[in-house]
Amino acid sequence: MKRITLLGATGSIGLRTLELVSSFPEELAIAGLAARGSNVELVADLCRKYAPDAVALLDVDALDRLARILPRPRPELLAGADGLVALAREVDAQVVVSALVGGAGLLPTMAAIQAGRTMALANKETLVMAGSLMTAAARSRGVALLPVDSEHSAIFQCLVGHNRADVHRILLTGSGGPFREWPRERFATITVEDALKHPTWKMGAKITIDSATLMNKGLEIIEARWLFDVRPEQVQVVVHPQSIVHSMVEYIDGAVIAQLGVADMGIPILYALTYPERRPTPAARLDLTRIGTLTFEPPDPVRFPALRLARAALEQGGVAPVVLNAANELAVAAFLERRIGFDEIADTIERALDRVPPADLCSIEQCVAVDADVRREVGRSLEARATGTAR
Ligand code: NAD
Ligand code: MG
Repeated sequence: MKRITLLGATGSIGLRTLELVSSFPEELAIAGLAARGSNVELVADLCRKYAPDAVALLDVDALDRLARILPRPRPELLAGADGLVALAREVDAQVVVSALVGGAGLLPTMAAIQAGRTMALANKETLVMAGSLMTAAARSRGVALLPVDSEHSAIFQCLVGHNRADVHRILLTGSGGPFREWPRERFATITVEDALKHPTWKMGAKITIDSATLMNKGLEIIEARWLFDVRPEQVQVVVHPQSIVHSMVEYIDGAVIAQLGVADMGIPILYALTYPERRPTPAARLDLTRIGTLTFEPPDPVRFPALRLARAALEQGGVAPVVLNAANELAVAAFLERRIGFDEIADTIERALDRVPPADLCSIEQCVAVDADVRREVGRSLEARATGTAR
C-alpha cells in the first residue's frame, strides 16, 4: 500500500488525484489532506471518503467548522501555514503530492523533501521560486522529484533509458492558450471570461490565466531547467494547439523523442504515483486518425511578453524568479478581481523585476522574505492604480 499526503486536495489536481486513489484501492491510500479551507463541506466529504490520519487547513475558522461537522473518531486536525508544514513533514506517507497553487506550497513542499518523502510535484511555482534550494535538498536527502505537470512528465518519460549528457535540447509544447490567434489590438478588450476559456485543459483559475498570458509556459521553462538540470537556452517553446504531443527531447544525434496522449492530467498524475511502474486506466485513448492533423508554430513574443520576462528572470537567477512569481501571482489575482486589464499583468511583472536589485538566493528564509516584500510592494502599487493615484 502506498500512503499519500495530498497538499491541495480540493483543487483540480487534488480531486483528480483522489479519483485515481479511488480507482486503485488495493494500492493507494490517503494519509494526509491539506487545503486552504474555502469549502469545508467538500473537505468533510473527502475525510469521510478517504479517512486520512490528518487534515491541515490554512483557514483556522474553517478548521473549527470542520471539527464540528466531522464525527469522532476523526483525523488529527492541523491549522494554519504551520499546520500544512507539520502535515507534510510528520504524517507517515511515502509520497507527497504537492498540488497547492502558488508560493503557499513552498514551505510544505520543502518540509516534505527534508523529511525524505518522494515528491509528486504539480506546484511549479515553488520550483520557480527556489529551484536551486529544492533540488539541492532533494539531492542531499536522496528524494525523487517526480513531475506531475504534463509537459515535464512527458520530458521525464522521454529521458528514461537515455544518457542525460546526450540531450541536445528540450522542446516544451504548449497549446498557445485562448488568444493564440487574437490580433494585438484586441488584447486590451480581453475579459476574465475570455481568459478562463482554455482551449484544451480544464484547470484551476490561476494556471488558466497563466496559460492565457503564456506565463505558464514561462514558469515551465524554469521548472524544466531545475527538474532536468539543463541550461535555459536548451529549452525551446513550441506552440502546439492540439495538446497531443506533451513535449519532446532532442538528442545530439538529431533524434527527437516525443510523448503523446489525450489531454487528461490523470495520466501524468498516475505515472508519478506508480513510477517506475505503469497501471491501466479507463482514461480516454488517443486516436490519431480522428485527430488527423498535429500543428506546430513558434510563440509570438510581441503579444505574449511573459515568455521573455520568465527567460530574463531565469537568466538573471538569484532572487529574480522569486520576484517574477510573486508579481505574477498578485497581477493574476488583480486581473481575476477585475482590478487590472489583461495587458497589465505583464506590465506589473516587468515593473517588479526592474525594481528589485539582483541578489543571490541563499536560503529558504531569504526566499520567503523576498516573496513577502515583493507582494507588499506590488500590492501597494496595484492598490494605487485602482484608486487612481498610480505613478
Ligand atoms: P486549484 O486552484 O484548482 O487548487 C489549488 C489547491 O490549493 C486547492 O486545494 C486550494 O484549497 C489550495 N490552496 C490554494 N491556496 C492555498 C493557500 N494559500 N494555502 C493552502 N492551500 C491553498 O489549482 P490547480 O489547478 O489544481 O493547480 C495546482 C498546482 O498544480 C498549481 O501550481 C498549478 O500550476 C499546477 N498544475 C495544475 C495543472 C492542472 O491541470 N490543474 C496542470 C499542471 C500543473
Ligand atoms: Mg503544464
